[in-house]
Amino acid sequence: KASVLLEGGQMIANGNVDVGKVQPTHQLDKLREERKTLPIYSFRERLLQDVEKNQILIIVGETGSGKTTQIPQYLHEAGYTKGGKKIGCTQPRRIAAMSVAARVSQEMGVKLGHEVGYSIRFEDCTSEKTVLKYMTDGMLLREFLCEPDLASYSVVMVDEAHERTLSTDVLLGLLKDIARYRPDLKLIISSATLDAEKFSDFFDSAKILRIPGRRYPVDIHYMEAPQADYLDAAIVAALQVHVTQPPGDILVFLTGQEEIETAEEILKHRTRGLGTKISELIICPIYANLPTELQAKIFEPTPEGARKVVLATNIAETSLTIDGIKYVIDPGFSKMKSYNPRSGMESLQVTPISKASSMQRAGRAGRTGHGKCFRLYTSYNYDSDLDDTTVPEVQRTNLANVVLMLKSLGIHDLVNFEFMDPPPCEALLKALELLFALGALNKVGELTKVGRRMAEFPVDPMLSKMIVSSDKYKCSDEVISIAAMLSTGSSIFYRPKDKQVHADTARLRFHTGNVGDHIALLKVYNAWKEANYSTQWCYENYIQVRSMKRARDIRDQLERLLERVEIKLSSSNDLEAIKKAVTSGFFPHCARLQKNGSYRTIKHPHTAHIHPSSGIMALEDHVLPRCVLYHELVLTTKEYMRQVTEIKPEWLVEIAPHYYQLNGVVEEDYSTSKKMPRGKGRTSTSKQIPNLADYSICV
Ligand code: ADP
Ligand code: MG
Repeated sequence: KASVLLEGGQMIANGNVDVGKVQPTHQLDKLREERKTLPIYSFRERLLQDVEKNQILIIVGETGSGKTTQIPQYLHEAGYTKGGKKIGCTQPRRIAAMSVAARVSQEMGVKLGHEVGYSIRFEDCTSEKTVLKYMTDGMLLREFLCEPDLASYSVVMVDEAHERTLSTDVLLGLLKDIARYRPDLKLIISSATLDAEKFSDFFDSAKILRIPGRRYPVDIHYMEAPQADYLDAAIVAALQVHVTQPPGDILVFLTGQEEIETAEEILKHRTRGLGTKISELIICPIYANLPTELQAKIFEPTPEGARKVVLATNIAETSLTIDGIKYVIDPGFSKMKSYNPRSGMESLQVTPISKASSMQRAGRAGRTGHGKCFRLYTSYNYDSDLDDTTVPEVQRTNLANVVLMLKSLGIHDLVNFEFMDPPPCEALLKALELLFALGALNKVGELTKVGRRMAEFPVDPMLSKMIVSSDKYKCSDEVISIAAMLSTGSSIFYRPKDKQVHADTARLRFHTGNVGDHIALLKVYNAWKEANYSTQWCYENYIQVRSMKRARDIRDQLERLLERVEIKLSSSNDLEAIKKAVTSGFFPHCARLQKNGSYRTIKHPHTAHIHPSSGIMALEDHVLPRCVLYHELVLTTKEYMRQVTEIKPEWLVEIAPHYYQLNGVVEEDYSTSKKMPRGKGRTSTSKQIPNLADYSICV
């Protein structure tokens, strides 16, 4: 059977995805046996009956019981994909969508991207053949734009619903609506936590199926005193477990890529000095931007005599199950978005987790046997400082993207949209104000032609506005390159510690003749293209190859989307025109220089600085530009603007006369303003949206 399946032709829309190997027959048999040992296996028939009898089913089951990998397969085996209909399964995190799809394709003995595929932003690994489609919740949301009734799906499974991401919450509302006029569509809402009643109530008392998990006891250990540096405490704890505890792998929860990389480096360094008496410690990082080829490593069985330590973000809390974990180290933090609707400030900061999260984390230690969880906080902290549950994202985020999406789906009455937990009214208003300022909505809140075009692009509204405006300035070719370079999610420039001077010199070459990071990014992209997308060129110029490849993929997609909104690809070498197009999207993000060398954002005044990584700061004898535009605000030790470009103040009046009056831009203003609220965070990102109180908008 396997050999027949091996013959399937190559596919993959993007062409850059490693499609993985098809398993030989004996491994397939082994995987088939493994599937039968999962807790969900004995519920197979019940589950299929429940799905047949009920349009909507809520499923609750412990992490690792087999919900994500097995349910879509059971439904496929039971005939739900007959006639080419698809089963869609959404995940809040893209790495989970990729990893689970890879696993399921192995279990089914097919190539990833054929019968089983995944779809995440900027990466479509599916084909005509795909019937089991794993995807991020955000991608299914976008599918509503092309297929409002999701006609090609027979079943939609909203997985990890307990995470309550913004996209999941909007999906729940939309799915509830279409279920009414698509009686043949089956909906499965699955969650790892026990708050199933809330989902059931939302779906008019939908049936709940509970899958009891196997759980071994987990001993919880607290610290006697609070820790000043949780990262250091986590590293020490991991080493102590390694040196003193019986075999079993360790899972450490950290908050992000940077922290994980630091921990990895320190752990490598410290284990070197341990001598040969101590067994090998295999360090496996896992976070959203981890390259695909390294992701599989965390699932590889630990060799006899060694121990694995997995350094993970929240992703390992419920989205991914790693077998063999016996020890969990929980510092008690995660990175969380917060949003202040009054000022429009969005920031991502390190925040204490909820009690529900810490229980989930501890649970990871008890899957295969008696486990231990080391909480790097006191039991007093646990009782008195941690909230019971996490606030759903819809109540702590900027809603501009979602509002634009709902408006393009023809949903005008946002206040009465069925949210499980409604967003704050102020946040909705703020989103409407921004979309109005960008020209996506008219005064009565209806979608404009510009807004309709913007909605086609899977990026934030300011970025999509910049792309749409590039048509007017005849430089769409350049602007989509810039947009792609800004969307890679990882840094473009490579700056190894031992070669910083070389790296900085290399980087300056892209900055000569202009003041601004946006144009520098464009120059990097164009130079790489000119070098035939060469890897060698990247090494020579201290550029991250992987980020560039990703930028190229993103750019290809943006180019296809341009065609869809009927914008011609036009190229220009007029840097001023390009910067004006950027300004058309980012005029709300402008700041001007103050006498003391710091900047003050124009519309909603507060102080910010140019990030040290900006090329502007690297230019020799740099003169700080009078007026700048920035991509985002980052909160570390100070409030920094990242990706900064010089603009002329008069452009603001020319491009956004409804937003800036002449004297507002030119006049100096040193009045003191309120500081942004600051959390105990280490790193944070914030975005600013100005106050549009002067403009009348009808909601
Ligand atoms: P649930 O969704 O209920 O948390 P899953 O279906 O994700 O459970 O996991 C079931 C089993 O499949 C677990 O034992 C897990 O270790 C295994 N598994 C899931 N994804 C992978 C993967 N990418 N590689 C190897 N094993 C995996
Ligand atoms: Mg799962």
